[in-house]
Amino acid sequence: MAQETMSFQAEVKQLLHLMIHSLYSNKEIFLRELISNASDAADKLRFEAIANSALYENDPNLRIRVGFDKEARTITIDDNGIGMSHDEAVSNLGTIARSGTKEFFGKLSGDQQKDAALIGQFGVGFYSGFIVADKITVESRRAGLSAAEGVRWTSAGEGEFAVETIERAQRGTTITLHLREGEEELLSAWKIKSIIQKYSDHVGLPIEMKKEEWDAEKSEMVTKDEYETINQASALWTRSKSEISDEQYQQFYQHLAHDHQNPLAWTHNRVEGRSEYTQLLYVPSHAPFDLWNRDHKSGLKLYVKRVFIMDDAEQLLPNYLRFVKGVVDSSDLPLNVSREILQESRDVKAIRDGVTKRVLSMLEEMAGAVTDAEASEEDKAKYTTFWTEFGQVLKEGIGEDHANRERVAKLARFASTHNDTNEQTVSLADYVARMKPEQTKIYYVTADTWQAAKNSPHLEVFRKKGVEVLLLTDRVDEWMLSFLNEFDGKPLASVARGDLDLGALNDEEKQQQEKVSEELKPLVEHMKEALKDKAKDVRLTFRLTDSPSCLVADEGDMSGYLQRMLKAAGQQAPQMQPILEVNPEHPLVKALRTDSADFGDWCNLLFDQALLAEGGALEDPASFVKRTNALLMGRAG
Ligand code: ADP
Ligand code: MG
Repeated sequence: MAQETMSFQAEVKQLLHLMIHSLYSNKEIFLRELISNASDAADKLRFEAIANSALYENDPNLRIRVGFDKEARTITIDDNGIGMSHDEAVSNLGTIARSGTKEFFGKLSGDQQKDAALIGQFGVGFYSGFIVADKITVESRRAGLSAAEGVRWTSAGEGEFAVETIERAQRGTTITLHLREGEEELLSAWKIKSIIQKYSDHVGLPIEMKKEEWDAEKSEMVTKDEYETINQASALWTRSKSEISDEQYQQFYQHLAHDHQNPLAWTHNRVEGRSEYTQLLYVPSHAPFDLWNRDHKSGLKLYVKRVFIMDDAEQLLPNYLRFVKGVVDSSDLPLNVSREILQESRDVKAIRDGVTKRVLSMLEEMAGAVTDAEASEEDKAKYTTFWTEFGQVLKEGIGEDHANRERVAKLARFASTHNDTNEQTVSLADYVARMKPEQTKIYYVTADTWQAAKNSPHLEVFRKKGVEVLLLTDRVDEWMLSFLNEFDGKPLASVARGDLDLGALNDEEKQQQEKVSEELKPLVEHMKEALKDKAKDVRLTFRLTDSPSCLVADEGDMSGYLQRMLKAAGQQAPQMQPILEVNPEHPLVKALRTDSADFGDWCNLLFDQALLAEGGALEDPASFVKRTNALLMGRAG
């Protein structure tokens, strides 16, 4: 077949351009990416060969070879893995198939530094070769196809690539990089070796280079025709901890997660017993760009007895730990395990429970460093970083993971009236430790923003009494709270729901309040009548000090905030009328006269104000404005 020229997908062009400019200072990563692809190709071959051993074609020793040619100014990376067919080369090397690609490009800002970090997260892969090469040639043949069905793919990385069918005896892929002007330093065995040892030492199959030897007669290094292995060539997680340096763990993470930043923490251990497996788990230092996408791929890489089985095995992790990266290598699962089998396997359940416990311990340790006098500043800062990046996801665990609810709740951090910032640093245990002796409940308020929560009229009495209130503003909070009824034996109570019973905190004032209530009974009855279409009930409150009124949800009813949230999400929210509470001490309330002509207007005003204060939307804003103006004029006149 003749050579065909094709155009890259628009996103590829954009990525190529950006990458060459923003990742130049990090250019050595191209070798890591190409070796990582070669290693993936070996994994895929091993996996397909479980069902069809003929794919090995009498060449079962999988390896990667790296070479260079000073004269031709090329570097080659050669593997005998699965290879690509003509069509696979076109689609795999001409498009980006990853989910969330569109949103990713939407996030690019044009600011080189920011974009470089984003690109790192996205995983640059094969195209990173163009950072150092102005032309790349890929020759490949898929395992199982005939020698006549090879493919050659070439591109200068500028919008187009060419493909043609070639004769290729060797299974697998050979990638040749034609180096750009100025990249000569890469053309040395020493340089290439040192890059490989830095980034790819952990790769689980041999990376070979031709031996070099000193030729005394010629007085120069000469390249021999035999190969030597230049990496450790055993999968990192199979080695013992004491033999692995922090750098090696970090490099492995970067390879695994396509992330060029270091992880916050990791844990590595072998579990023996009923179910035997090795786990190496990492907590990243930042959320991936697609963490909130519905089709975000999560889960661990699954190996069975060192054989790669699948990426993103989501059955190995509960959903609320979807930010964790890592590897599980099981000794018990069958090699031909499928996603369906994983779902039902008891071994998998045991692994998932084990992984969950490990991750929670890792997070507990990180959280412990925050208050540990011995911990370094760097360690102290880690949990804050973690919480900022992944706190909202972890909170889902309070609803999702019944067995570990208490542990997850302990890890949660909130903003609170105890602090003057919107940072989420207060744990439930901190709160409980600060509770007043007579206080029996943990109080919270929910709102759209920290500002709104902090200024909620419902907090007035708590401020007066010096009682701390948690300020909850994440979308997941209301949902989470429906699962978290108590902590450490103390019930959680919304400051905006039900009768405010401050218990012993309020005893002395009770008598006085009862007297006032008795006196104002007729007023309250009239207000109820005036607001019968809007309010479920009207009652006096002693929770307000500065505001004339506020709305509360009846015990057992959905809060106004949650109703609005459901509506915003396009869901059916039951229409539940709130209760209006009025502050008998407020001048506006004191001035109410049931026999005046504008009594109804005043009642409506108190209701509408309360609704606005808690972030609600008025049903009829025009009437509100009209009514308010009429009342203001009445006052003025
Ligand atoms: P990723 O590795 O994240 O999928 P890359 O850009 O690195 O993305 O590679 C794109 C695709 O090209 C791979 O998913 C794979 O299908 C194919 N590919 C790249 N290199 C090789 C190789 N050496 N052997 C077989 N397929 C390869
Ligand atoms: Mg890759």
